[in-house]
Amino acid sequence: MHITIIGAGVAGLACAAEFTARGGNVRILERGSRVGAEACSWWAGGMLAPWCEGESAELSVVNLGQRAIDWWANHTETLVSSGTLVLALGRDISELKTFANKTENYESVYSDQIAELEPDLADRFHRGLFFKDEAFLNPRKAIIQLSEKLERLGVEFVFNNEANISDVRGTDLVVDCRGLEARDISKTLRGVKGEMLLIHSNDIKINRPIRLLHPRIPLYLVPRGDGDYMVGATMIENEERERISARSMFELLGSTFALHPSFHEAEIIEIGVDARPAFPDNLPRVYWKGEILCVNGLYRHGFLLSPSMAQMAAKAVFEGANIPESIDEYSS
Ligand SMILES: Cc1cc2nc3c(=O)[nH]c(=O)nc-3n(C[C@H](O)[C@H](O)[C@H](O)COP(=O)(O)OP(=O)(O)OC[C@H]3O[C@@H](n4cnc5c(N)ncnc54)[C@H](O)[C@@H]3O)c2cc1C
Repeated sequence: MHITIIGAGVAGLACAAEFTARGGNVRILERGSRVGAEACSWWAGGMLAPWCEGESAELSVVNLGQRAIDWWANHTETLVSSGTLVLALGRDISELKTFANKTENYESVYSDQIAELEPDLADRFHRGLFFKDEAFLNPRKAIIQLSEKLERLGVEFVFNNEANISDVRGTDLVVDCRGLEARDISKTLRGVKGEMLLIHSNDIKINRPIRLLHPRIPLYLVPRGDGDYMVGATMIENEERERISARSMFELLGSTFALHPSFHEAEIIEIGVDARPAFPDNLPRVYWKGEILCVNGLYRHGFLLSPSMAQMAAKAVFEGANIPESIDEYSS
């Protein structure tokens, strides 16, 4: 079967992997000049943290997200399985209890364990939650490595190609993975602005993703190697995709300093802004729009849920399977 996927973000690449694994002949049209150049996926933190996400997301996200860890381990070399550490400063300790009540699959940790896991944070934090089965990846390396693997498997990438959805209909099956740009045919999609920083510090070493709980400005920090850290991410009901607000910059840095004062001397090496594609219920969907198969609405769970969404799409295409009404049905 010949399949044209529009969009080489994480959704399009995951679909290409699942279609190719079932013998599909896949071509990807991408408006950007390379993988990630124009994709929201470029700005992701890369946390594969399904149990932590249970704090605010549906059970289906927690269940399907667990499958993503093995999937990415099979498709990239950037996955690190070192767990997630959730911390709160003494004055915010009630936030830790609330987080614990809403999540599962963690152990409570105290000064000694925190000192073993993250020696540089041991002086400041005395209680936390450790989600040992969670993982993280470098999303940029992950999508590049996945695209290289797909190329070796025969997937054709056509870059600098801004496809018009009505022009690409032909004999191929068309799969729309354009993210937020698909609002022309998926009218209920909206953008949820996310802002992030890449910082560099040689003064402190953090080994795994840290979530710092705070009543107003929760923060996560993800190591990127060689002293680089991704700090994120805001969640704002706004589709502006270019500029960070002064308030967001102030809050992200303030929380980073609260995690450790050494970050005062860190260098800001990159500022990233994009809008996550989301449906009103913030859950992703696979759905037909006429003859076009659409995979979209990955919201803040692009890396966590694209493997399951791609498998759902592949079952619809190759096995003629009915697409479940909701991911709740698919995850049970
Ligand atoms: C700051 C931030 C932090 C985040 N952190 C995480 C995280 O830690 N974990 C996680 O799982 N998710 C995270 N996300 C969410 C994640 O990035 C998104 O869910 C994901 O990128 C959506 O993927 P997508 O493939 O649907 O869209 P995109 O990545 O935007 O891909 C769509 C692609 O389609 C292309 N395209 C659009 N129109 C056309 C056209 N007409 N012709 C050809 N190509 C076209 C675009 O150029 C783009 O490459 C974060 C997002 C942000 C902004």
